[in-house]
Amino acid sequence: MQMVQDSSQSTTPAPDAILEDLRRLGKNVNGYLGETIDIESTLTQLEAAATTFGWNSEVFLTVQNLKLVAFKRISPHPGPRVYISAGIHGDEPAGPLALLQLLNENRWPDKFSLWLCPCLNPIGFALNRRENLDGTDLNREYLRPKAAEIVAHVEWLERQPRFDLCLCLHEDWEANGFYVYELNPESQRSMAPIMIASLEGVCPIDTSEIIEGRPAQMGIIRPNGESLNRPQWPEAFFLHSNKTRLSYTLEAPSDFPLKTRVAALASAVRATLDSFVGGTGSAA
Ligand SMILES: [Zn+2]
Repeated sequence: MQMVQDSSQSTTPAPDAILEDLRRLGKNVNGYLGETIDIESTLTQLEAAATTFGWNSEVFLTVQNLKLVAFKRISPHPGPRVYISAGIHGDEPAGPLALLQLLNENRWPDKFSLWLCPCLNPIGFALNRRENLDGTDLNREYLRPKAAEIVAHVEWLERQPRFDLCLCLHEDWEANGFYVYELNPESQRSMAPIMIASLEGVCPIDTSEIIEGRPAQMGIIRPNGESLNRPQWPEAFFLHSNKTRLSYTLEAPSDFPLKTRVAALASAVRATLDSFVGGTGSAA
């Protein structure tokens, strides 16, 4: 006989209850369940910080009243050209917040010229999801861009000079700790160990031997000879093919508090810039 089940006696909690427990523990299952940000307010704060500290600001697209903006600060001295992007996945809030923190600190190395794209997918943040409004993962669009965000971003990138170093800030809800993915075809001095060392006391490292299906060593993935033949290019592949010979994709672990992930990304960027002297192709 079928009886109405009293949920208090049920041995299997409802899925909502499980998710709520996981959220309380800060764990992410089947996607990001952690802290979110008010993207309009974050974009306003980013623009205010850029204005305060004398950055040139350019809006290269507006999606549903949310601006995709690029900040530029050219040093009067010859020195490395560095590009940093964040916020291409709308469920990875630490990247835009780390750039906001670094802008407000305003402790960039003197001779560096810098280009920042602090939030490439603002609508994704408004929706609290990885993809844009159309459900497109923008970080798979760079070989043949169709999404308006990436068409506009690539057009903007093509108007900029080549960079000596590119950093793409991300988060990974499946990671056990921080890790970084290096594309360094000319074996320039690697910045990855410097990033990892800067995280001591800030954020754990993912020490897995395989991360995202690739061999890793102490949080560093070096996909030597990885083919660019993949049909779906992330931003790093476009940068590698068109704009730089040294790029890093930084991944903060989403299971940790947002504050920790912001501190981790900011620390890795700061440490990298503090010890970067320009690679073999710095005049390119
Ligand atoms: Zn990402």
